Amino acid sequence: MKKNYHNLHDKLIDWYERNHRVLPWRETNDPYRIWISEIMLQQTRVAQATDYYHRFINRWTTVAELAQADEDEVLLMWQGLGYYTRARNMHKAAKMMAEKMPTSWEEWRALPGIGDYTAGAICSFVFNLPYPAMDGNVYRVIARLMDCDMAFDTTQGKKVFQQFAWDLLDKERPKLWNQAIMEFGATYCLPQNCDCENCPIQHHCLAKQHHTVPLLPVRKPKAPLKDRFFNYTIFMDKNRQTLIHQRKQKDIWQHLWEFYLEETDSPSATTPPLLTHILSHQRIHATFQVRLVDTLPSLEGYKTVAWNDLEQYAFAQLTLKALKKLGLQ
Ligand code: SF4
Repeated sequence: MKKNYHNLHDKLIDWYERNHRVLPWRETNDPYRIWISEIMLQQTRVAQATDYYHRFINRWTTVAELAQADEDEVLLMWQGLGYYTRARNMHKAAKMMAEKMPTSWEEWRALPGIGDYTAGAICSFVFNLPYPAMDGNVYRVIARLMDCDMAFDTTQGKKVFQQFAWDLLDKERPKLWNQAIMEFGATYCLPQNCDCENCPIQHHCLAKQHHTVPLLPVRKPKAPLKDRFFNYTIFMDKNRQTLIHQRKQKDIWQHLWEFYLEETDSPSATTPPLLTHILSHQRIHATFQVRLVDTLPSLEGYKTVAWNDLEQYAFAQLTLKALKKLGLQ
């Protein structure tokens, strides 16, 4: 017989109503705004996402406006938020949404950049449809409530956790339930040192009963990071012009701009790295050299731009940090 979670629902929703943070995207039912916030929150902390959220919705107040935007401007606006595929997918999705705003889980899920979790979150927040929403914080809460030590980021683990999420879902109040469990994971049931003794749902928590809280959740072992060596040259001529090009290849930072780059298989023998930048699967060791020249070299695929116009182009965070470190920005 299926377990009844009414008591858990009441306790967690009651906790949420008394303790939740006020966030701008919670004050609206507008699918466009909720969608923007969910895409931004996929890999970004709330404080940073809030700032970008305001910038986006002030610049493009409707999905139709975003659909008509220039991709370069979207990337520029996204600059600093990382995981730029999100911005490109967001722009593609905006064009589709401007034709027809999705209303079902399947229609949301079919848009670029929307996975099961985001589709569930949007459908429950906008339409109060009964779908679970699973972010990293929710996986942690569920792993502990169920005392499940299966790695949640494996194919098998995902299935098991999805089933738990469906079982736990408050089908009458999906919006409130999803908001409550996400907020609880983000602010109370923390990775370390959570206050289990005063937890409002401790009597439902099997990990607390079995003393396994600090061991959960379990992830699969990480693949080792791949090291890459980027050697940048910043040319500057006497008219304060430089050379940049847009990364077109299917690789990190696609469609972002950068200075003249030579990638090598090993570290430069002559120039120490200025920065080491860690991405989800790669570690980039980057050297930067500034070369003052009378005339810029002619390099295929590179564009001549005035130094003062660089701010019109979106660069990766690594380059922006390097410019600051070199005192060039
Ligand atoms: S008892 Fe501790 S681990 Fe369990 S849900 Fe509460 S805060 Fe999380």
